Amino acid sequence: MSVSAEKVRDILLDIVRVIDENKQYLTDLDAAIGDGDHGHNMARGFQVVKSKLEENPAVDVGDLLKVTAMALISHVGGASGPLYGTLFLKGSAVVKDKTELSLQDFSGVLKAGIEGVKARGKAELGEKTMLDVLIPVQESIEADAKAGTGGAQALAKAAKLAEECKDATKNIIATKGRASYLGERSIGHIDPGATSSWLMVLTVSKALEREE
Ligand code: ADP
Ligand code: MG
Repeated sequence: MSVSAEKVRDILLDIVRVIDENKQYLTDLDAAIGDGDHGHNMARGFQVVKSKLEENPAVDVGDLLKVTAMALISHVGGASGPLYGTLFLKGSAVVKDKTELSLQDFSGVLKAGIEGVKARGKAELGEKTMLDVLIPVQESIEADAKAGTGGAQALAKAAKLAEECKDATKNIIATKGRASYLGERSIGHIDPGATSSWLMVLTVSKALEREE
């Protein structure tokens, strides 16, 4: 896989649209175990991402991810803004000055981003957060990059895994974030951040599928 900076920019704009389309759904999920703002927080931040991306020509992939990170850090309230901002910011450093993105690069972006999220939020796999989707997705993509699998195929697999993992957060007790206040009562509800992460992976997958 080799995705141009122009295409990365288009995919980021696809994510803006998908988050906007799903904002009520994400907010409803958050209303059940949090404070009911996840979708609206994310949609507001991603609208800023949209205007920043429209102002910036697609120079390189690192810049695009950095612009996205800064908009999310400054404009998304709650825990998820700084966490998603960190994901994109740490990821951007891995592809600094790159004008093309390989599957190996994408795996590296996710890996560095996840390390940042873990450091910032002090969470690990299995705590009912976005990490329950992001970690397995990164591992799957890394394995496919090593195996030489095509980007669209690797992402289709990752998107399916992401969906299963976000559904599986239903059975996890939250031990980080607001949902942890509910303890065992958080069981039975899908995590909103895991759902927004799944939607992003799904959007990347659909974009690569269209390319083929
Ligand atoms: P807030 O909880 O501050 O209202 P949001 O509702 O926007 O923020 O986001 C909630 C989501 O953030 C959760 O569903 C979860 O996936 C994610 N999250 C919360 N705390 C953490 C953490 N420490 N590490 C990783 N993700 C977290
Ligand atoms: Mg919330």
